[in-house]
Amino acid sequence: MITWDDYAAIVGPEVIAQLHRLADRLGPAKFVHVNSTRTGGGVAEILSRAVPLLTEMGLKTTWEVIEGDPDVFEVTKGFHNALQGMRVQIEPALLDHYIEVNRENARRFAWDADFVMIHDPQPAYLINEIRDQAKHWIWRCHVDISRPNLKVWKFLREIVNQYEASVFSMSKFAQNLPHQQYIIRPSIDPLSDKNRELTEQEVQGVLDKLGIGRDKPIILQVSRFDSFKDPLGVIQSYRMVRKHTPCKLILAGGEATDDPEGPRIFAQVMDASHGDPDIHVLLLPPDAHYEINALQRAANIIVQKSTKEGFGLTVTEAMWKGKPVVGSAVGGIVLQVRDYNTGFLVNSPEGCAFRIRYLLNRPEMAKRMGKMAQEFVRSHFLITRTIRDYLTLLILLENPGSRHIEL
Ligand code: UDP
Repeated sequence: MITWDDYAAIVGPEVIAQLHRLADRLGPAKFVHVNSTRTGGGVAEILSRAVPLLTEMGLKTTWEVIEGDPDVFEVTKGFHNALQGMRVQIEPALLDHYIEVNRENARRFAWDADFVMIHDPQPAYLINEIRDQAKHWIWRCHVDISRPNLKVWKFLREIVNQYEASVFSMSKFAQNLPHQQYIIRPSIDPLSDKNRELTEQEVQGVLDKLGIGRDKPIILQVSRFDSFKDPLGVIQSYRMVRKHTPCKLILAGGEATDDPEGPRIFAQVMDASHGDPDIHVLLLPPDAHYEINALQRAANIIVQKSTKEGFGLTVTEAMWKGKPVVGSAVGGIVLQVRDYNTGFLVNSPEGCAFRIRYLLNRPEMAKRMGKMAQEFVRSHFLITRTIRDYLTLLILLENPGSRHIEL
């Protein structure tokens, strides 16, 4: 069983003591999180660890998942794409359907909560139906909303305006809203199956099971099959590298229950990789945390070639395993990949290929960067820091006007 002492061994006992002091200020406050999928994607990943830890801190924390049909997830994926700047048309009838699905979900809830944190746009409309079920409503946006499609944002902003506070992953995403906006970076749990230490035998066991040899250096991208993750661009970069340097590529991903685009993008990736035995496209089940952990540890270089990225937990996961990351200079990736220190930032398939080769040819430098990456994650992107930020936010909402917290 994992204890707070195990976390203290990683982040230091004072960090854990501070969390307890913050949690004591809140007592057994009821804190409800709502999102739209229990598995797949970064939001579910964080909630699956933050909710039990907040509960252990003494808050009555629960996690609700709204239910929907394929039509509503088409709409909400449209919201997601539009917030990340894509041009999308959403029919008025589908917007009505989004509202209706939120109404149906609202009928299932009877919270009497102190705090509700609504993650992303899918369940955002709940506030219109059951506002009196919680004292404080917080909207937590996980996507890159720096340049949203204005028509869709106008519709959503009307809803978001009603919240008491919004939380974004970086200041660039802040919007013109009539309430306080907070910046809270996502994070990973170093003791979860996705991130805990593995032995060399465990890593090898997973590679054997997946039929992946280690005859050549491994380049890896872990991502849902989503166009913003640019898996086709990764294949393009890999082909450029392969002209000069032997390597193999693993594209590992799964599907999220609230993402209807996965199968189409997966088919495109299969098509693009056809006939190359050194490209492994893995469609993993949603609970393949241990396998992803092993793949990240087996990889020589990890790539995150997204064209938009709210944060990119996969980058932190890779860095925690001491891997240098070649990542696009977009969204939250720039918070993690410090160019020339913890990895390289790139802007094109050519740039990505250049940096992959650069690192493949300099294993000592790759190792040094990986070490720096790991220490950077330790001080910035571990779950204890997110828990601290959430607790601090709740205390501030309970004490409006206070500028600092006495502990
Ligand atoms: N992930 C997973 N299985 C997959 C693909 C991704 O468990 O097949 C995890 C990945 O390890 C990371 C999260 O899902 O923890 C993805 O978070 P990120 O912020 O990188 O992207 P998002 O999917 O939220 O856009």
